[in-house]
Amino acid sequence: MEYDIALLPGDGIGNEVVEATIPVLDAASEKFGFEFQTTWYDWGSQRYLQKGEMLPDTAYDQLAEHDAILHGAMGHPDVPDHISSTEGHISIRREFDHYINLRPAILFDSSLTPLKGVETADVNIVWYRENTEGEYIDVGGRLNRGGSTEIALQSSIYTKEGIRRIAKSAFRDAKTRSKKVTNVTKSNALSHGPVFWDEVVEEVSEEFPDVRLENMYVDAANMHLVQRPEDFDVVLSSNLFGDILTDLTAAIVGGLGMTPSANLNPNNDYPGMFEPVHGSAPDIAGDGIANPLATVLSSGLMFDDFGQSSAAAAIREGVEAQVSDETAPKTPDLGGSAKTRDVVDDLVTRF
Ligand code: ATP
Ligand code: MG
Repeated sequence: MEYDIALLPGDGIGNEVVEATIPVLDAASEKFGFEFQTTWYDWGSQRYLQKGEMLPDTAYDQLAEHDAILHGAMGHPDVPDHISSTEGHISIRREFDHYINLRPAILFDSSLTPLKGVETADVNIVWYRENTEGEYIDVGGRLNRGGSTEIALQSSIYTKEGIRRIAKSAFRDAKTRSKKVTNVTKSNALSHGPVFWDEVVEEVSEEFPDVRLENMYVDAANMHLVQRPEDFDVVLSSNLFGDILTDLTAAIVGGLGMTPSANLNPNNDYPGMFEPVHGSAPDIAGDGIANPLATVLSSGLMFDDFGQSSAAAAIREGVEAQVSDETAPKTPDLGGSAKTRDVVDDLVTRF
């Protein structure tokens, strides 16, 4: 088997963490007997600053040829955030209709969590964040611009099919895990979209009689995640709540350097896009100290998507062994003083 992987490192530490992941791909392919080839695309904010575009016109056609996209991050201090993201990686999610934003948060060692009394095995959450509609749809505008009566409107759009497909993905996964889906909602205060969301999720849950549906308001979920993270397993939410609360779950398991993500659509043939939850981190870019593990773990999600589950498991086990080894190199965000490269050099010896 040979996989064809597009590397889209993007900006800032995106370049460092994607490059650092390649030796891990090599080690996994050697051990598990498959091959892969890569094509490097240097699109992102540098291109924007030179040519006024984040991606070339042909970007989607080129990316569509591959089996997967391994992305770093897009963002630059001289490019407005809404341009680098909406014209960069978010446009790829839209083009390929990546409706699933899968964000697992696993506590690989209890030393990594700021929470007291939480043990390693306690936190293993997988978040299903709706990725194509909801609150982040670009609908709205401004009235009476500049005047004392100025008004801004921002709408959300929830479609029945949009809710159904993400809910189904979460329920399907829950069947293989703890058989519970926690639906994070705010239907007590937002009376149209989230009420509809809950109705459709309830309908989908009836197709999965062996999976329990738990509804939780986003404010309560925020508190419970800190007080009893062990109660969460598969979590389902719309775009906005997933965006916010997955930064909290990242903090619970060791920070942005530890949290991978996948953008998927199992119903079409486009490649999935795998990327760390973090951004381009301009404050540490170029220093060679970025934690590569979020991107390494994202490559694990890519192997899961390829059906190479042994390679995916080996990556997670390698990371677990490394972060729980007191003598292993760790980057500064995990309290160490190692370089990105040292972490990878050590990790590949654990295969
Ligand atoms: P962007 O605009 O691209 O989202 P940002 O300024 O929001 O960038 P993030 O990348 O989201 O920055 O990072 C937020 C903080 O977390 C920064 O202080 C950054 O240094 C730190 N951070 C993020 N990712 C990592 C990593 N992989 N290793 C170490 N520190 C990280
Ligand atoms: Mg950011």
